[in-house]
Order: sequence, then structure tokens, then C-alpha cells
Amino acid sequence: MATVAKAAPQPIPRIAPREDLNPYRIAQIQFDIAAEYLKLDPGLRQILRTPKRILEVSVPTKMDNGQIKVFTGFRVQHNIARGPAKGGIRYHPAVTLDEVKALATWMTWKTATVNIPFGGGKGGVICDPKRMSKPELERMTRRFASEIFPIIGPDQDIPAPDVYTDSQTMAWIMDTYSMTKGRTSLGVVTGKPISIGGSEGRHEATARGCLVAVEEACKVKKMSLRGATVAIQGFGNAGSIAARLFAEKKARVVAISDSRGGVFNSRGIDPMKAARYKERSGTVVGMPGTSRISNDDLLTMKCDILIPAALENVITLNNADQIKAKIVAEAANGPTTPHADEVLARKGVTMIPDILANAGGVTVSYFEWVQDLQSFFWSEGEVNAKLELVMRRAFHEVHETARKHRTHMRTGAYVLAVGRVADATLVRGLFP
Ligand code: NAD
Repeated sequence: MATVAKAAPQPIPRIAPREDLNPYRIAQIQFDIAAEYLKLDPGLRQILRTPKRILEVSVPTKMDNGQIKVFTGFRVQHNIARGPAKGGIRYHPAVTLDEVKALATWMTWKTATVNIPFGGGKGGVICDPKRMSKPELERMTRRFASEIFPIIGPDQDIPAPDVYTDSQTMAWIMDTYSMTKGRTSLGVVTGKPISIGGSEGRHEATARGCLVAVEEACKVKKMSLRGATVAIQGFGNAGSIAARLFAEKKARVVAISDSRGGVFNSRGIDPMKAARYKERSGTVVGMPGTSRISNDDLLTMKCDILIPAALENVITLNNADQIKAKIVAEAANGPTTPHADEVLARKGVTMIPDILANAGGVTVSYFEWVQDLQSFFWSEGEVNAKLELVMRRAFHEVHETARKHRTHMRTGAYVLAVGRVADATLVRGLFP
């Protein structure tokens, strides 16, 4: 099977012999590789390599038992050369500042890859949302929104949902921001409910963009999506909707998983039934008609298309040489390490990197923001058609860049994206 772009193994600068799994250092290594290709000036490298602004806040929250708990939250703006910072907010016990810095950095390259006029930002709160009631989550969210209020806004920094946050979280942030301003501000967050300025098609945009990217990769590889077997790690917003959309295209979803484990059926799993089962029981594990599979085995099972749609660092040097998929499409951010990238490229696996594969979400977030600013809303058909155009164009620009530089798709995407942000930075010039 031909690779999407003929990969010439590249040396990886500044990586420890034992694999470094710190996501921020990984993000910097990925940047350094592109900076080498682009022969960027050392001063410009320093500007683009580090976040522009980092805010750490404490978020005192009254819990249901009357006690006060103080959570730690972050908002990082990595770069705003091409437009306001844009990126999600994550609630997870394992959130760290370095993770948020990495996610903000990836957002800068993602918005540039799909060429939308945003920079990159990200937020996170260290908390365990599964152990919190809805009123506790609302109070924590509103206080967090209030703490980051000075640096967010429709023309400044626009948050969106990420792991364990959703449209309700965005509604609380929009309301808190609007109450503080004294007027309704629709464009301060995206991924909102439709009733308060959310966009048609946003809920499924990440998965739909991933599907379009995979369709293009299949064309390049002369592989049929119809009948292709698909394994998906993570069954949340990105993963569960990807499962449904791939099944609608007659691909066969053979394995899915969530934080409690995975399930497998070689004849195919009905994603709608799986979603209903997970809604009732809180996990896909135990779904009738399936056998159990671990999250680790799901990644290395025989399948045509592998979609990591959960968290970072799941494809590493430990398992990269056992990956059997022909295409890996990163719906999650940062699932593959730089060393694993090289192993997959040598094996001829087509890697659709996160900054392309999951860029459908931020693309429709951009559409949502545009609609909010104009108070003029589009149909779902219009949104999906515009999303498809952006994703297909971005795929081919990345593929062409990778081909030109004789490298794999991740570095192709980075060369394209970093080049765009570098151009914007140079033409603006350095203040003062
Ligand atoms: P989500 O909270 O809706 O779902 C996360 C899923 O991952 C859940 O099913 C959870 O059970 C599962 N999970 C958690 N830990 C796991 C583990 N250790 N092993 C296997 N599964 C695990 O989150 P989401 O919005 O779907 O985000 C998933 C990934 O997609 C993240 O990397 C996120 O940054 C990325 N992403 C999301 C969007 C979006 O629009 N939601 C956009 C771009 C990228």
C-alpha cells in the first residue's frame, strides 16, 4: 500500500533517549522540526515556540455539602498573530499547565492549517467532573469564567468545549461574561446551545471534519472507505459521532472504547445502539453482542482505520511498531509521540495529524463566531458544505506540502501552519 507522502526519516532535535511524554515538550519538538524545514530565524523561533500569555487562577467553589473547595485553573494564549486566541476548556483531574500550554500551541498550528483567522489558546481546570454535581459544576464554571474574564472576549480569546465540558458549560460561561459586561455577548464562546447563538453542525463538526480528511486519505491511498474496518478509542463527542458518521458511509466500526475499557465485534458495532447503551450504563463496556477489549489492544488490533479520540500519548514507542491500521486519524489532540510518528511513517501508515484531522471543530467554531457577530444564522447544510470545502482544501495543502518536502503528513501540516504564522508575525513586525 502506498504512503500518502513518501517519508524520508528526519532527525528529531532535542529529544531524550527515553521517550519524553511531556506534551508541551512534544509540541516544541514538533515545532522545531518545522522550523528547521522553514529555516526560521532564531529570534522568530523564540517568539513562536512559547506562549504569549499564561494565566493561572484559583477557583473557590461552594460544594453541595457547604464546604469550600479551591480548584486551580489555567488559560493560555499561545499566539494571536493571525487573529484572536481560540481553543477549548478541559475539565480533568490530570490537567497540568504544561498540558494546557501544549494544547494552546497545537491550536495555533491548527487554525493556521485550516487557514481560519484565529490564533491559539486553551484552558483547563484540575477537577474531577464525574464526581461533581451539576450545581457544583455550574458554580465552578462561573467562577472560573469570572477569573479569566480579563483576558477573554469575542475579539480577544474565544473558548469552546473540550474533554468533559460541553454546550451547557459554554452557556454558563457566555452568561457569566454577559452579566459582567451588562449586555449579551454571543461571540465570547463557541460550541453553545443553538438557542443562544450556537451553530447548526457544531456538535458533530470535529467528527465530520475527521471523516472528510479520512475520505481524502482513502482517495490518495486508493482505498475504499466502504467496508473498511474502523477502531475508535474514546466514545465522547469526537469518538461517538465519528463512529456514527463512518457507519453512515458503510465503513465497519469494529471496536470502540471509553475510560473504562473497550468492546469489539468483527462484524461491526451499531454506533447508535452503543450510544444508547453508554447513556444508560455510563460505559460501552458490557454492550450486548460484543466482546471485551482493552484500550491498549484496541490500538494495535487489525483494522484499516484507527481513530484515537480520547487523550494524549497513546501511540508511543511502546506500541507504534504493532499498529496495523493503514490510516491513523487523530481526532484527539496529541495522541502520538514524535518517535512513534517516525515508526509509523517507516511502516507506511498514513497519519492524519491532529492539527488537521480534528480541525473540523474549530472550523465550525469559526463559523459560529462569524454568525454570532453578524446575528445571521446559516442552515446545517450550508455549515456542512463550507466545512467540507475547508477540510478538503486543507488536506490537499498539507499533503502537497508533505510531498514537496519529502516528509510525512504531520511535518507537512506543521511546515504549512508554522509558515503561515511566521509570515503573519514578520509582516506585522515587532512591537514597539
Ligand atoms: P469528551 O469528554 O466528549 O469524550 C472523551 C472520551 O474519552 C470519553 O468517552 C471518555 O470516556 C474517553 N476517555 C477518557 N479517558 C480515556 C482513556 N484513558 N482511554 C480511553 N478513553 C478515554 O471529549 P471530546 O470532546 O470527545 O474530546 C476527545 C479528544 O478530542 C480530546 O483530545 C480533545 O482535545 C479532542 N478534540 C475535541 C474537539 C471537540 O470539538 N469536542 C475538537 C478537537 C479536538
